[in-house]
Amino acid sequence: MIWVDREVKKILERNNKLEWVDDMKTPSGRIHVGSLRGVVIHDLVYRALLENDKDTKFTYVIEDHDPMDAIPSYLDYDKWEPYAGKQLFKIPSPEPGFANFGEFYGKEFIKVFESINCHPEIIWMSEVYKSGRMNDVVRTALDKVEQIREIYLRITKVKKANDWYPLNVVCEKCGKIGTTSVHKWDGEFVYYKCNLEMVAWAEGCGNEGKVSPFNGNAKMPWRIEWPAKWKVIGVTIEGGGKDHMSAGGSFDMAKVVCEEVFNHPAPFPLGYEFFIIGGKKMSSSKGVGTSAKEAANILPADMLRFLLVRTPIERALDFNPFGEAIPNLFDDYDRCFTAYFAKLESKVPDGKQGEVIEDFARIAELSQVRPLPTVRMYLPRFRTIVNLLKTRTNILEFFEKQKGSALNGYERELLEERIIYAEGYIKTYAENADKIELLESLPDGLALSQTQKAFLRKLSEELKKIKNEDRDQIQEIVFSILKQNNLQAKDVFKAFYQILIGKEFGPKASDLILEFGIKTVIGRIDKVFEDKSEEEPEKPDTKFPMITDSALFSIGDEVKSKFSSITVGVAIIKGVTIGKTPPELQAEIDSFLELQGALTTEQISTYPEIKSYRKLYKETGVDWHSRRPSPEALLRRIALKKGLYSINSCVDAYNLIVMTHRISVGAFDLDKINLPTMLRFAKEGEEIHLLGDAEPTMYKAGELAYFDQVGGYNIDFNYRDSKRSVVTETTKDLLINTEGVFDISPKQVEKVLQETIDIIVKYCGGTVEQVGIVTET
Ligand SMILES: [Zn+2]
Repeated sequence: MIWVDREVKKILERNNKLEWVDDMKTPSGRIHVGSLRGVVIHDLVYRALLENDKDTKFTYVIEDHDPMDAIPSYLDYDKWEPYAGKQLFKIPSPEPGFANFGEFYGKEFIKVFESINCHPEIIWMSEVYKSGRMNDVVRTALDKVEQIREIYLRITKVKKANDWYPLNVVCEKCGKIGTTSVHKWDGEFVYYKCNLEMVAWAEGCGNEGKVSPFNGNAKMPWRIEWPAKWKVIGVTIEGGGKDHMSAGGSFDMAKVVCEEVFNHPAPFPLGYEFFIIGGKKMSSSKGVGTSAKEAANILPADMLRFLLVRTPIERALDFNPFGEAIPNLFDDYDRCFTAYFAKLESKVPDGKQGEVIEDFARIAELSQVRPLPTVRMYLPRFRTIVNLLKTRTNILEFFEKQKGSALNGYERELLEERIIYAEGYIKTYAENADKIELLESLPDGLALSQTQKAFLRKLSEELKKIKNEDRDQIQEIVFSILKQNNLQAKDVFKAFYQILIGKEFGPKASDLILEFGIKTVIGRIDKVFEDKSEEEPEKPDTKFPMITDSALFSIGDEVKSKFSSITVGVAIIKGVTIGKTPPELQAEIDSFLELQGALTTEQISTYPEIKSYRKLYKETGVDWHSRRPSPEALLRRIALKKGLYSINSCVDAYNLIVMTHRISVGAFDLDKINLPTMLRFAKEGEEIHLLGDAEPTMYKAGELAYFDQVGGYNIDFNYRDSKRSVVTETTKDLLINTEGVFDISPKQVEKVLQETIDIIVKYCGGTVEQVGIVTET
């Protein structure tokens, strides 16, 4: 669940009839990009409430009745200084076409947030005051001045003078509001003075007088006006940057004033961390940082919105556009969009992996500025566009070739927009970025592992078979090589990037191959193998001893004669430490799952290993439709997007081997097993209490299972295991069984046994005390 849904869940619990989301800003100059974060955060909460069928309004208050309290550095000081202290809506616009200063900068900001799909109803605060809607709260604040002074002292530790009133009036002589103070209230008029030196940023005229405080003649100070506005508008949700939301800050003060002075509930607070772009070196006017308008030139609307949607509100956001940040952001965006398409096509798996995809899809949905596509779209990669622009390739042609068909309207629009931003990126921000260039020759000191070499050799072979430069086909080839050879993508790709670009990582393999050309890539790979002296001898096959000691394990004679092709691998590992599945193991599992994204149940049925187990089931009278051999059961969970259970570091580790090789493995708590063990047919009347069942199950005579001196500890070769022998976090010693039959060769069983031992020792430690296989062939 992403942050906005978490916040909204809390809001919905209050069960308000109407929710009113509001945010605000004083348009005293170009509005900083940080304020954009507030707009998007409020917009997302508003949308999520609407999705939950909550009656909700969303307003944005432009505080154009505030005084100008500084001259922005990009304006001529001498020209604008005389306006300091006057209200923004009474100061002329810096550019023609706008009624006043506040409207000019207010509308500039509105345009930016509307461009990223935020459309609150705009409230100009000057109009609210002028309309008289603030009159009641102004009167209340004046009447309750003593209470307000007391709250100031309590919350902010500031002692206000006995003749201080929470109001600034417009001086009838000089028109300034920032310079006046009120010292008396008689129920009809306030008595004020226009002070020469009250504030540093404006000079008053010294005028004194009395005036009605209503209908826009005056305004309240910010800490009182904020809660007053909540009451007048009816705001129920409003947040602010952490400077306002900290303990004892303006929100705390406003909350107390709202509840105690205006007798109105304070809104639900949405506190968020700051957002800046490029730190201080990007400041557009001293100390202000990148403006919202400038940000819109650095990133396209979707991307700017995406950046704000995906970052949890409690996390500070300092986006540095130099270097790789922009291409990385586009890649992240595409990843979320791809998740959205998966959701659209109902391809989201259950479990942890599915949750991540759901979150990604949700982020993509909420980040959209254009209408969301209703079918999967091809996304031209930003990083590739940047590279293509450098080599002056025909970009549209390139991507149409990559896609394998013409780009549709949506895709072309996306491409055109990305080209514009890629040009801007290259021009301004890419100087420090890593250049992706083909190395002239193999890098010096290249040391590749056997696995990496095997991958490269296979890749070269497969690429040679390709007739036309098709991205999907290349990708398919790369993935199937990984899958068929059980290779870790991260490990072998490192070699791939090293020989081409001299780095350990790079753009998507298929993109890079297309960019440099298939022939070039094949040529480079083949160079790796030109020097024969490089070749190391292949690792010899693992060969375990035959187990002849029936005090450990044996296969029953009847089984031997009926299924002579059965091979069983046995190992005893002592002194293991089993715990929760560690992140490294989870990462291995996740990368396996990633490669299995397109797995179908039909495909599972074609695997010779699965067919072999099914055949054995059939021949022992077990219906494999209702009882699935364990490798099949695991793979089916993946194909049916049900996600995998996470058990513990031992079980999850060997299940990865089971799924990879489609050969079953069982691990049992050796201390619960009474040696010797035997694989034999069950007899009439024997029973087993299966893990996860409330009641014991009766074996049918002739079912194949492992037994110890107590009874059976699994059922139907590898269908399920007994409760008593289960491996838990307290297990110290392990008995491992792995088994094959028919088309599963002893060699395969040996390989699986070796890998099972390796992965268990890697993640659980322990010492292998005994290991061997039993086979007739
Ligand atoms: Zn004055």
